Formats: sequence, C-alpha cells, structure tokens
Amino acid sequence: MIKNFIHRSITSPKKFIIGKGLLNNPSKYIKDFGSNCFIICDVVFLDTIKQHTEVSLNKENIKSHIEQFNYQCTKEEVDRLCALTKKFKNDIVVGIGGGKTLDSAKAVAYYERLPVILMPTIASTDAPCTSLSVLYKGNGEFDKYLYLPQNPDSILVDTTVLINAPPRFFSAGVGDALATYFEARACYQTTGNNLVNMKPSRIGLGVSKMCYEIISDNIDKAMDAVKNKAITPAFEQMIEATIYLSGIGAESGGLAAAHAVCNGMSIIPDLHRAQHGEKVAFGLLTQLVLENAAHEEIENVFRIMKIANLPLTVEDLGLKNWDVEQWHKVASIANDKNDTMVNLPQKVDDQDIYNAMLTANEMGKRYKNKPIDSFKFVQFNK
Ligand SMILES: [Zn+2]
Repeated sequence: MIKNFIHRSITSPKKFIIGKGLLNNPSKYIKDFGSNCFIICDVVFLDTIKQHTEVSLNKENIKSHIEQFNYQCTKEEVDRLCALTKKFKNDIVVGIGGGKTLDSAKAVAYYERLPVILMPTIASTDAPCTSLSVLYKGNGEFDKYLYLPQNPDSILVDTTVLINAPPRFFSAGVGDALATYFEARACYQTTGNNLVNMKPSRIGLGVSKMCYEIISDNIDKAMDAVKNKAITPAFEQMIEATIYLSGIGAESGGLAAAHAVCNGMSIIPDLHRAQHGEKVAFGLLTQLVLENAAHEEIENVFRIMKIANLPLTVEDLGLKNWDVEQWHKVASIANDKNDTMVNLPQKVDDQDIYNAMLTANEMGKRYKNKPIDSFKFVQFNK
C-alpha cells in the first residue's frame, strides 16, 4: 500500500500527441525510445497493425512483435506478456486498445523497466495518462490498483481511429471528464488526497477547470462531428479534455463523491452493462445534490449530459426497480472511509448519500423532459 504524503503533486505523461493517421504511422514518435517494440493490442486492430503499423516501423528499422491482448488485465496476463518481452528482448512496450489493454501495457513496462507508448482506440477512459493500472481477477472481479512510479512516456491519439469508434464510448468519456472539475474542486477545498495519494496542486485544479470549460464550450459541435464521423477542431479539443485533462486533472486534482458513488453502484447487477463514465455522471449529479450546488451549475451539467446522450436517470442506466435496501448498500459502499467521498468538504453519512441519489434521479427525470432549446448556453472561452 502506498503511503500518504503531505506533498502536493503534478504528475503527467511526457508527451501527448493528437493527429490523424498516427496508428498507421507512429515511427516518428517511437524511434527515440527504442528499436524493438513489444506491441500489445486488441484483437480488432490486429490486421491494421500488421498491415500498416508494422510496415511503417520496419521502414525506420524498428523491429516489432505483435501480441494480442487476452481481454482481461490480470496478474497472469501481465506475467505472460512480461515473459514474452524477455523472450523477444524488446526495449519498448506499445499498448494499442481500450483501457484494460493500456493498463496491461503500463504494468508490463513497469515490471520490465521499459519505456511505454500508448495509443488509445476509444475515448472513454482515463487509463492512457495515469500512473495507475487496475488489475482484475480471472473471474472479472476487481483485484487491486497497481501504483506505478511513472506516467507513460508518450500517448499517441489517432483522431481517425477515435472518430470511427462507437459513439457511446465518446459519450462515456464525456461523463467521466465532466466530473473531473467538480471532484477536484471538492478535493482542493478539503486538501484531500489526489489519485497518487498526495495533496492536490493548484495546477491539478486548474487543469480540471479547463477540462470542464472545454466540454461546456464544445459539446454541441463535437456531438455533431461524432454523429457524422467528421474530425473537427471541436472534436480535437474534446479529445484533449476527455483523455488528457480528465486523466491528469483526476491524478493531480483528486476525486470526490462522483467516483465513490460510481464504485457503490457496481453492486447492482442491472447496471453492469453501464459504462464507467455513465455511472460517474450519475455520481456527479449526486455530488451536486450533496453540495447543494448552484442552479446554473446543475443546469449546465444536465445540458452537457443531455447533448452527450448520457443517461440522466438510473432507469436509463439499466435499472429495472429501485430496491431501497440495495441503494442503501450503494450509499454505504460509496461512504467507505477508504474511498473518495471523504474529499467532500461537508461530512455526510450513508443516509445523506441515499437521499442525494434519490434526489439526483428525480432531477434526472425532470431534466429529461426539459427541451434542449430551453437550456441556457454557457460559453467560458470566447
Ligand atoms: Zn473515472
């Protein structure tokens, strides 16, 4: 277990590159780190990587071994991948895929003491930028957090790949990123612990605020772009917000009630198909109720969620019946003293959290019926 530090922290990847066609041609950003890549990738990208990525690397005299990720980031899978990097004498790890693939690549690089470059293929997760890997057990249950001493060396974000990913992942990424500022704000007020168990920095808070402002300013235009699979400046800014600012904002700024509620919701079987970011967005609504946030703030969060096609109620998240006992249990898990609910400035008990979730759901029903044109547009940067 990592010790608590009284120091404030700013931690981030060394480089974050955004552009079209990076998956097919990443050599320029890889050659400085090594000449023998171990590529861990999701099955859907195997052919593309063999046909394009590998060819591009070969042209620059970079060798590669391509290994398909085995669906779950377990200790066994990480051990298997580590053994292969030794066998092929690789000097750099490249992860291409979703959050679990990237978490495995980070873990392998850590154990093998190699540089790591990540290429996310969906925008739904903070995994690319953080110095943390989430390990699961073989049966899919959470195992442990692996705290890494360093963030990834480079993140290469191919907008062509992301714009062609299912839109639901983009929306889920917006949900996760939308909570970043509100959670960092709470954590900063309490001087709680951030994701690396240090105290939040002003930059962590500032980055989180920028994340929120970019989302607020660009969500309408970005969703139009996503609908048409068109890469636009608004879409690119949203990628900065959902992948980079959200990740380092959470890591340096800290989390609070939104993620704690999301963690509590994991016990409800009806919600197992909901995306992490979709549940975090509901957790954010709960946090805003607990904070008794300003009306304009709540309304703008709902505006963004509505435009992003995020679920506004637990029914929309997949819940069939509100089981009072079960939701009391969600509240008690969310209020675990080791979770991030403690970063809220006001002290809350289980009943307060239950009441806030119930109220957040009621608000969701109300805002669902409010026509989108009746929301006030909030523009932070002109
Ligand atoms: Zn999250």
